Amino acid sequence: MGGASITKVLIANRGEIAVRVARACRDLGITSVAVYSEADRGARHVRAADEAYFVGGTQAAESYLSVERLLDAVSRSGADAVHPGYGFLAENAGFARAVTGAGVRWVGPPPDAIEIMGDKISSRTAAVRAGVTPVPGTDHALAGPGEVVEFGDAVGWPVAVKAAFGGGGRGMRVVASPAEAAEALESAQREAERAFGRPECYLEKYLTWPRHIEVQVFGDDHGNMVHLGTRDCSVQRRHQKLVEEAPAPDLPGPVTEAMGEAAVRLARACGYVNAGTVELIYQDGEFYFLEMNTRLQVEHPVTEMVTGLDLVALQFLVASGRPLPFSQADVAWHGHAIEARINAEDPAGGSFAPSPGRITRLRAPSGPWVRTDSGYETGDVVDQHYDNLLAKVVAWGPDRESARRRLVRALYETEVEGVATTVPAHLAVLGHPDFISVSHSTTWLAQAVDLSSIEPAPTAEPASGEERKDIQVEVQGRRYEVSVWLPAGHEPTTRGAARRPGSRGAGRGGAGSSRGSVAREATEGPGTPGGGTVTVPMQGTVVKVLVKVGDRVGPGQTVCVLEAMKMENNIVSEVAGTVAEVRVEAGQSVGSGDVIALIAQSGSPTS
Ligand code: ADP
Ligand code: ADP
Ligand code: MG
Repeated sequence: MGGASITKVLIANRGEIAVRVARACRDLGITSVAVYSEADRGARHVRAADEAYFVGGTQAAESYLSVERLLDAVSRSGADAVHPGYGFLAENAGFARAVTGAGVRWVGPPPDAIEIMGDKISSRTAAVRAGVTPVPGTDHALAGPGEVVEFGDAVGWPVAVKAAFGGGGRGMRVVASPAEAAEALESAQREAERAFGRPECYLEKYLTWPRHIEVQVFGDDHGNMVHLGTRDCSVQRRHQKLVEEAPAPDLPGPVTEAMGEAAVRLARACGYVNAGTVELIYQDGEFYFLEMNTRLQVEHPVTEMVTGLDLVALQFLVASGRPLPFSQADVAWHGHAIEARINAEDPAGGSFAPSPGRITRLRAPSGPWVRTDSGYETGDVVDQHYDNLLAKVVAWGPDRESARRRLVRALYETEVEGVATTVPAHLAVLGHPDFISVSHSTTWLAQAVDLSSIEPAPTAEPASGEERKDIQVEVQGRRYEVSVWLPAGHEPTTRGAARRPGSRGAGRGGAGSSRGSVAREATEGPGTPGGGTVTVPMQGTVVKVLVKVGDRVGPGQTVCVLEAMKMENNIVSEVAGTVAEVRVEAGQSVGSGDVIALIAQSGSPTS
């Protein structure tokens, strides 16, 4: 097989990964074609491509997930290849088949390999066949909560209920005891059904202090299959990655080698071609197969930084039928790279609450050995309908410590205003002795890192009508930065505001959403004397209402489940009392600050 070169690529995605792919196209002299939804008319990925086609409504189902509309854009543009990015339809075998069926190249693995690996149950079976041990678990779809209890009693608690078609940390619930089984199963199935259209769940033993280690593999149509080394993605919140690095530090040499061999064996066994990632979980000296991602990974830049390879360029090469231009023995690793995922989320208090909104200012870092991949610029809107990854900041160094220090420097240079970001959490992680000594795990961030001193991002409109202004003052020749709160519209007389590390947390949102689930004392309107109003902290869609008028609720009890930025968020009451009014129902869209329920506090009259 030789194959004609790819000359025009349609990028079936948005955000930073679409920009990344468009850049590779420019580097290679390939024409790039963007697609965009209603909400993305002026988006950065559209500006980054040579051509752009409108594909439909803001809802992903009407645009980035619509096979029909994407194929129509392929034919209108005359593209000879489709790059799916990650997420959306990247791991959809039906889309891959439809693309190749239209005589267009699919920049990814064969649909059969996607099918085997896209379903976590069948991928476990494939791993066993290839001699790679999966996490102890079950190999069939669960019929009911009884099976969860039976499994937990047999292998020990906690256990994980996982969606067979899950991804991006969604569709998974940790179950600590038999009493939690039924609700966890129902909630995992509901989330999986909504996000992936398939509710099937299975079980795994839940390891409590593991590291997430993964291996990048690459294969071609000529029987070559190599691995490009390990990445450690153990810094996670809600089972979603936040910081990634390559190579995985502090692993015994033979373990690293065995991981690479296992990944290549598994990829070969499923007839894999193109870029893929075998995810492993490592604890007490043993590693287990977790899943295989049949696409380019979010964190691929750290592998690029240490291998010097352009993985997207290699994807195009392999997709055009050419052989990989190197063998395993040629792959060499230099130094260390660490990536921070900058998400529009408020990490204050460890809540990582989504923070959609308009970015009023974005300054990406640069300088020696720093790379920023971003899907946004100043003025762009982070829409609640999509993933909230704003940018990835990656730093390289000759060793882990110098990469770490450079990344910290780069994060202090990063400035984002208008939405809250994960930057303050990154700084807490990167400066933590456990991270520095590699004694962290996937549950470490939630358990061991104190994020309570991170201030919540200021709300968009302070109730008092005051606005925060940052001004620079000089005291005896030394410059300080101070924040003052002035009536809206008033400008402080001092101008300018240079930022110093530590004086003002880099990337802190200037006007992000309020955080977490809040319940304020009712102050006006037909409220409940001595009661509370339960409000939503962000735009989203109500998935489920868990209370009805007359129900007793306790502080911290979930009143409704809200989906925003592809995540379920529990909206809780902060007071104890009786539900006096419920103002929303499942399926309804709500905006930040909307009141969803009124609670009459215990001992107070209801009206
Ligand atoms: P990676 O494994 O590449 O580090 P994640 O697992 O965090 O990345 O997921 C990559 C992106 O794709 C995220 O934006 C996530 O929300 C999205 N995603 C992952 N799997 C799916 C899926 N099956 N369907 C839709 N979106 C997905
Ligand atoms: P996704 O498709 O959402 O990426 P994964 O199976 O890769 O799902 O799991 C995501 C993360 O959840 C892992 O990186 C790990 O931190 C955690 N996790 C998944 N399964 C287990 C398990 N059995 N024990 C402990 N942690 C797990
Ligand atoms: Mg995964």
